Amino acid sequence: MWRTLSHILVGILSGLGALFVGCTGFPTQSEPVVVKRAQMHMGTLVTITSVARSEAAAQAAATAGFSEIHRLEQLLSTWIPTSELSRVNTSAGVKPVHVSPETLTVVQRAIQVAEMTDGGFNIAIGPAVDAWSVIEGRRIPTESELEALRPLVDLMSVHVDVQEQTIYLGKAGMRIDVGGIGKGYAADQAVDALRSAGAIAGVVALSGDIKTFGRSPGGKMFHVGIQHPRKDGSVLAWIDLQDEAISTAGDYERFFEREGVRYHHILDPRTLQPARSCQSVTVIAREGVWADGLDTGIFVMGPERGMELVEQLPDVEAIIVDAEGRLLVSSGLKQRIRLP
Ligand code: ADP
Ligand code: MG
Repeated sequence: MWRTLSHILVGILSGLGALFVGCTGFPTQSEPVVVKRAQMHMGTLVTITSVARSEAAAQAAATAGFSEIHRLEQLLSTWIPTSELSRVNTSAGVKPVHVSPETLTVVQRAIQVAEMTDGGFNIAIGPAVDAWSVIEGRRIPTESELEALRPLVDLMSVHVDVQEQTIYLGKAGMRIDVGGIGKGYAADQAVDALRSAGAIAGVVALSGDIKTFGRSPGGKMFHVGIQHPRKDGSVLAWIDLQDEAISTAGDYERFFEREGVRYHHILDPRTLQPARSCQSVTVIAREGVWADGLDTGIFVMGPERGMELVEQLPDVEAIIVDAEGRLLVSSGLKQRIRLP
């Protein structure tokens, strides 16, 4: 996870950029300052918008946000052989590994999302993700190859010991992959870092995983566009957010096509094949970790069961584009979104 550079899929923050034109010029004493910066982290473009009382404070807060994301990447990336998660993976079937509270939290949240989504979300999917290696390999694994991996995709063998602060994967060859939830968690943590460093409002966007807090200096909510899954560069819907996270899982970002069939990076843990019942799932929640975990899990569950789940969860909303391109909007969002 996190190695391939992904194109910005959601949260075309162009509206946001436009909103801030004029604010960054010559601020008077009382006017908040807006700073917007971008860096590469977790294999993706990270954009931080930081609003503070002074330029120095806004810059310092943005820097704190980027450092936090960098720190988490060192813990969670499976592309970094020395990361905590890599050590958990290489110790599969051998021994429990002591991890930081952050790694423990992400894995606990991932297990909770798995329960909520009836196993649609499953971080033990790692060996199957590698077998498909959608971007690098562009190859279709054989049924028998996938069959051999099936026993390893076993969430019941992911043992989290909160007392000992360890994670143990019970079978040799198992691998956990938090690519479907880690960026949302990182957005939450980066927002906390911005706040602690003195920002009064802001947006942290790891590609399509976005967390907002407060309002822009003009008093407006942060304006976010959701990428259309089949029209590159077009917006599916606009939404204004305040103290909310938004995250999109789609089949259009990392995929290849073979004989008219699209193979993408979200796998159904039951079939170990790319999940087929949605084109994209956007989830809005209070925290990025839920928005990111749920978008992937609901993508696997499909539009009907997925929307049923969303309607049961407080403070969770969704926009789903089903396999036929039909748009489904949860009840709490119907009055809030604007179609282009
Ligand atoms: P991104 O924003 O990077 O596209 P998503 O939230 O869409 O991430 O999640 C996709 C990633 O999650 C995949 O690249 C893979 O690492 C991982 N993944 C794929 N299928 C599943 C699944 N069923 N459950 C949990 N994680 C998955
Ligand atoms: Mg996700």
